[in-house]
Amino acid sequence: MERTLVKLQGLPVDTFTFEEALKYAAGISGQIVTINPEMIACAKKNPDFKSIIENAELIIPDGIGVEIGLKILGKRVKRMAGIEFARALLAEFSKTSQPVALVGAKEEIITKARENLEKEINGINIVYSHNGYFKEDEIILKELANSNPRYVLVALGSPKQEEFINKAKQLMPDALLIGVGGSFDVWSGVVDRAPEIYQKMGVEWLYRTVKEPKRFKRIFPTLPLFVLNVLKEKFIGV
Ligand code: UDP
Repeated sequence: MERTLVKLQGLPVDTFTFEEALKYAAGISGQIVTINPEMIACAKKNPDFKSIIENAELIIPDGIGVEIGLKILGKRVKRMAGIEFARALLAEFSKTSQPVALVGAKEEIITKARENLEKEINGINIVYSHNGYFKEDEIILKELANSNPRYVLVALGSPKQEEFINKAKQLMPDALLIGVGGSFDVWSGVVDRAPEIYQKMGVEWLYRTVKEPKRFKRIFPTLPLFVLNVLKEKFIGV
């Protein structure tokens, strides 16, 4: 399968459907980025982060913001929730009990998330897990590489998780790594995902913001500014 990339605000986005991306990802190693408007805003200010995204082996459009942005530019790409994609891939690798690793979130969260995943996914083979509150990346990177996983889920929030994965992928050329943000919190059962209606409408972020108002600062003004910038990109071409 060949990648077809489109550009949004100067950043590449893959155009696979969910099923295609899943199939493609199962056959590669490297870094999966689940791109969203917050990350695009961050990449504009941080060239190192931008080049991490550009060099990722798969960039999936996570969320309605990216879908709308691409639509404004006349490109039809369907969003896929990073949390669902990461989990579908976990189920795929678990069919053949390939070794997987989890890094990130608070200790009690990762313990509970691991327990739940081991109960819920047939054949799952978790060979390493560690919470996300460590001082030195190098120690965890070494432990992680020594456990030799095929698939690694990293939940440190963005851009921390993408930076960590970028270092990890140099040490683990055969592994596939994905940043999963708050997914372990959801899988632990501690944080609810938005009801299905919010997910279907692509406004999961709205539900999360209302439930956790401190997120407001992160979404606004990023989201409206992002739409404005894409409109500028369309009409003025910047
Ligand atoms: N986190 C972590 N170490 C850190 C900072 C954050 O393990 O130094 C975890 C945090 O506990 C949470 C996840 O990273 O589980 C980030 O969640 P958030 O909701 O911020 O991510 P988003 O999905 O919004 O990017």
